Amino acid sequence: MDKLQTVLDGAIDLARASEERGQVAHYIPELAEADPKKAGIAITLENGETIGAGDWQQPNTIQSISKTFTLALCLGTMGDNLWTRVGREPSGSSFDSILQLEHENGIPRNPFVNAGAIVVTDAILATYQPKEALGEIVRFVQGLAGDDQIYIDGKVAQSEKATGHRNRALAHYLASCGNLQNPVEHTLGVYYNQCALTMDCAQLSRAGRFLAFAGTLGPNRQQMVSKKRARRIAAIMLTCGHYDGSGDFAYRVGLPAKSGVSGMIMAAVPGIASIAVWSPGLDRAGNSYIGTKMLEYVTNKMDWTVFS
Ligand code: GLN
Repeated sequence: MDKLQTVLDGAIDLARASEERGQVAHYIPELAEADPKKAGIAITLENGETIGAGDWQQPNTIQSISKTFTLALCLGTMGDNLWTRVGREPSGSSFDSILQLEHENGIPRNPFVNAGAIVVTDAILATYQPKEALGEIVRFVQGLAGDDQIYIDGKVAQSEKATGHRNRALAHYLASCGNLQNPVEHTLGVYYNQCALTMDCAQLSRAGRFLAFAGTLGPNRQQMVSKKRARRIAAIMLTCGHYDGSGDFAYRVGLPAKSGVSGMIMAAVPGIASIAVWSPGLDRAGNSYIGTKMLEYVTNKMDWTVFS
């Protein structure tokens, strides 16, 4: 444990020393105010213990990391039927690209690009009204994290709604292809709010435990998601979790992980640990620049990879 704390402190030293920090996301006004100098990291182990370093207790919206939780929830209710509406292949294009939708008749490449995540949220709305769906999503994430303090930052959700032309375009295109079953504004309302789920690195690393521990929550082995489903979600994280930066991330870090434009990343070390990092500056693909560097450092020091 002492060694791990030293490694986390080392990752934060590296983060603070880095001159290059990436660019904070500007297209959501509330995110543009983030301080690129911030950096935090937290790790939750199988025994439930969470340790961290840097700004690991500062809450942030999780943005696209929420797509991992809605995917788990959606597969839990509708099972493999989801795959008639969304694919499982890397996209090789940006997270909010509209191009492939036209080429593939409104079937998004995977559930982690925006179009795919909008379809997943729309599918959840088949069983719930928007408010109930949001309640289900929040309760699911709270249950995974074992923390009922997790909330939605309404200001960020509003800020994204006010500027969400690209997501509206994606949703209308999906609707024009018959791949949206609810009114665009209902589906997007839930989507913006799920993206504004707010957690610090400690909470996020606890929420991600089910991916590292075969669908369970660590010490008491409570099964939250089936073992097979957790493994499959992790596979999609590895291949698609960082958009068109997924190959580079697998090469450098070697773990299934999901990023968000707030600069958070959630990663799973199978059987060992769940990791969350945060630093708001992004690389060209929209993934945390410093966050990836910290994960690269930790996985090298600890020899954590799915490729050993
Ligand atoms: N809420 C953001 C959006 O829809 C999420 C994108 C992301 O985190 N990559 O654009």
